[in-house]
Amino acid sequence: MADPASTTSTPRSSAATPRNPAWLPTPLERLALALFPLILVFGTVFSVLSPQTRAAPYDPVAQAHAQEPGAAPGYFARKDNVFNVVFVKRGWGWTTLAFAFFLLTHPSGGSGLDLTARRLRAAVRWAAVTGWWFLVTQWCFGAPIIDRGFRWTGGKCEVAAREVAMGDTSVGEMLTAVACKAAGGRWKGGHDISGHVFLLVLGTAFLMHEVGWPVLRWSGGLREERCVVMPDGALKSANVEAETPEGQGEGRFALGAGGKTALAVMGLNLWMLLMTAIYFHTWFEKLTGLVAAMVGVYAVYVVPRFVPALRGIFQLRFSPALANKPKGPPPDAASPPARKPFDPFAHPPRSLFVADVGPAHYLVLNKFAVVPEHFILATRAFRPQTHVLEAADLDAARACLGAYEAADDGGLFAFFNCGEHSGASQPHRHIQLLPVARMRDGLDGDSGAAAWRVLAERADLDEAPFVAFSETIGVGISSADLHAAYLRLYRRACRAVAAHAGAPAGEEAPAEGESQISYNMAMTRSTLVVCPRLAEGGAVVKGGKEVARLALNGTVLAGTALVKSEAEWEALREDPRGLEDALRTIGVPREGFNEGMKL
Ligand code: AMP
Repeated sequence: MADPASTTSTPRSSAATPRNPAWLPTPLERLALALFPLILVFGTVFSVLSPQTRAAPYDPVAQAHAQEPGAAPGYFARKDNVFNVVFVKRGWGWTTLAFAFFLLTHPSGGSGLDLTARRLRAAVRWAAVTGWWFLVTQWCFGAPIIDRGFRWTGGKCEVAAREVAMGDTSVGEMLTAVACKAAGGRWKGGHDISGHVFLLVLGTAFLMHEVGWPVLRWSGGLREERCVVMPDGALKSANVEAETPEGQGEGRFALGAGGKTALAVMGLNLWMLLMTAIYFHTWFEKLTGLVAAMVGVYAVYVVPRFVPALRGIFQLRFSPALANKPKGPPPDAASPPARKPFDPFAHPPRSLFVADVGPAHYLVLNKFAVVPEHFILATRAFRPQTHVLEAADLDAARACLGAYEAADDGGLFAFFNCGEHSGASQPHRHIQLLPVARMRDGLDGDSGAAAWRVLAERADLDEAPFVAFSETIGVGISSADLHAAYLRLYRRACRAVAAHAGAPAGEEAPAEGESQISYNMAMTRSTLVVCPRLAEGGAVVKGGKEVARLALNGTVLAGTALVKSEAEWEALREDPRGLEDALRTIGVPREGFNEGMKL
């Protein structure tokens, strides 16, 4: 298991450093991507200046010089050169092979053949880039984009023209270069986007992002900040979400066999790009090949950084009411307090009381609401907050979720804080409820606001820096099944905490009485989540000085980090790495956690 301390040792850059706009690739990415146009310009200029190339006859229909052995200006000017036939023609296969080999063998991807979140996300990006390659070169609801472009710009099958004159239109209707050539025609007259340039640029840029940056980041050599737009519109460091923890390789620049393979494929790609630039296509066709590849790279790697609906796990919310919330007794108080602490849920004032829920629970408005309409489900008689929940508690919470009218607007998010590290303050048992629509307030006007959903219900709960266990619960789930699901999740959480502490697997945690661990539970209409907690939060540092202490409760399972003071708010907005650090330490760190192996 990763030592959380080692993941928080990220060196802090000055808060005054201007951030890179999220819609722009980072300076390093821009430098790397500039290599492609540079090679193309160099190759094109070389072909114009080289007497040998200029002297060789050029066939504009074939987009190549004469192919006969003596006539071609060089080995690489021939389409049948072995690199073209074996490598470029199967280019996407080589790229995919190098990518998969790296992802499955390099330590930055995870151990063994585990399906880690990093691998899953990389596979999704591979599918997206492959989809673009497929649309451009293979099939796009009929002819691929390259062939459609050719026909839109006036190109056609030349044999067709003759045969059309003879009354045979079948060849003339050929929509793809492959079909035309197979029918003995000449694909002529249109703008032929360079498929070679497209493939070689796309494949190389893909491997740069999937292999190059992760290796650099892992070895601690990539200090550059990639920025993302959060749902509240703020520009943040993407480190909170980075799949490859910075510096985990502790300075070792280890490519491994997978990295070396990818490097070889990238090197060959660039060499073949240069050969294409020198010997094939017009400069404009090479340019459109480059643009087509860049469109795919930008869509997959840059757009998700500034479209919050596509990403954005955490929202930072300023909630000054939290500062006024009464604190519970210190958990480690040696002697009992002189006066019995005030219990706000023993006799709720009529002005805050909402309704009874069954015989043992009631609803009360939260006097220190973090969002409007924040309310609380409390037990009528005193029950300890630190005890394992009973079936009746879960039933009452589920009844509230089911009865809430604005379910279409996101419904309710219920959460429970248990134990000293969970953010709890009141010892009288209570579950809190927040209307999801009210949590979206303040995100209005932002493109991600409408799409914002609580983290507990999102697939990327698995990508939070802390471990959380979830099960799907149907609206009609029975009381016994709901309680059983809660106990399963609670026990997994107990085992995770024990495994993190290096303790041997002991007895199953009892189903009642004092909870063995601190945890947060979240419940929505469809999901039940339990997140073991090891700390309430962490120091918020600004200019090397601690300016506040961040305390996170069950709202983290909504993907919300509540801050109570302006100092915290300002410090975290300026440098979101404070939040990143806290999220890594509040629970069992996700990095290195493998439930199957550890429990
Ligand atoms: P926790 O801090 O998780 O134990 O939750 C206690 C909740 O009770 C917090 O959300 C407080 O804002 C809320 N609370 C504290 N005092 C009162 C009160 N007098 N009336 C209603 N809610 C209260």
